[in-house]
Amino acid sequence: MTRLIIILPCFNEAESLEKTVETVDGLIQELIDKKLVTHDSYALYVDDGSTDETWALILRFSQSSSRVQGIRLSSNAGHQLALAAGMQEANGKCDACVSIDADLQQDPKAIEQFLSRMRDGAEVVYGVRQDRSTDGFFKYSLANVFYFLARHIGVKLVRGHADYRLLSAKALSIACRFAESDPFYRGIIPLIGLRSDIVEFEVKPREFGVSKYSFSKMVRLALTGITSFSIIPLRLIGALGVLVLFVSLLLTFYVLLVRLFTDSAVPGWASIVVPIYMLSGIQMISLSVIGEYVGRIFLEVKGRPPFVVWEKTYD
Ligand code: UDP
Ligand code: MG
Repeated sequence: MTRLIIILPCFNEAESLEKTVETVDGLIQELIDKKLVTHDSYALYVDDGSTDETWALILRFSQSSSRVQGIRLSSNAGHQLALAAGMQEANGKCDACVSIDADLQQDPKAIEQFLSRMRDGAEVVYGVRQDRSTDGFFKYSLANVFYFLARHIGVKLVRGHADYRLLSAKALSIACRFAESDPFYRGIIPLIGLRSDIVEFEVKPREFGVSKYSFSKMVRLALTGITSFSIIPLRLIGALGVLVLFVSLLLTFYVLLVRLFTDSAVPGWASIVVPIYMLSGIQMISLSVIGEYVGRIFLEVKGRPPFVVWEKTYD
């Protein structure tokens, strides 16, 4: 039998929490009754620096049910780091962990299938959404652009998968060794390279409250997904440089021809004005890409603990 820990990152989820705790508690009980998981399986709620009643609720629920545990981060570290905190906490304490959003937009019933795929030998089971109909047009478009860029730049991703997954104890311990200050688990988990499988599930609209993924958080996640997995953008600068060199050589040749064989040459104009505009644009793009990487080196080199576990419901 499997000792299961379900990890739920929560950021200002007070409105959803009661229903979520009830549902997840019921689900764990059901899995226990079916003898799929052990009696000491539980849900681990990670309060990601909420400013509402989230932690108070987690504390209260943890007192009435041994299947509710919680840890609290000292400030809002972001969804991926809240997940990292939960995974580190679960590491070594379970045979499998499942991460799922606290709003339960992802159908928790799929967990039973996750477990059966694990029994069939998978170390990682990805939950994959059947469609994107619950996303607005904007989010849908952003996701498409992101997947297009990621694919062409060589980031391995499972399409339609968003952090609803099962990890075996082994996969979890390996994932925890990716001690990145700005992790992107959708890219990291496929790098683990263990046997994996896929389970399809339906996405429901959010029942309570609003999305905790602001536009800026979404863009940051997409940027992390691309820049922390690939150096191809850096190589593109090189390619661009070669192209520019070629074009400027052609231009030199053209200016020479005009100067030698016609009388219409305005001395110095083409060779000065055109490159000024062209190069300054390209330099700015190049600098911004380099800056992105330098920024990442800067963040990693500082080596600050990316989150601090503040409190726990247990010792
Ligand atoms: N979340 C978090 N920290 C954040 C933002 C979100 O822990 O800074 C959690 C949130 O509580 C939820 C999950 O991440 O459990 C997914 O967020 P949300 O449902 O708001 O995103 P959406 O479904 O709109 O993409
Ligand atoms: Mg959601």
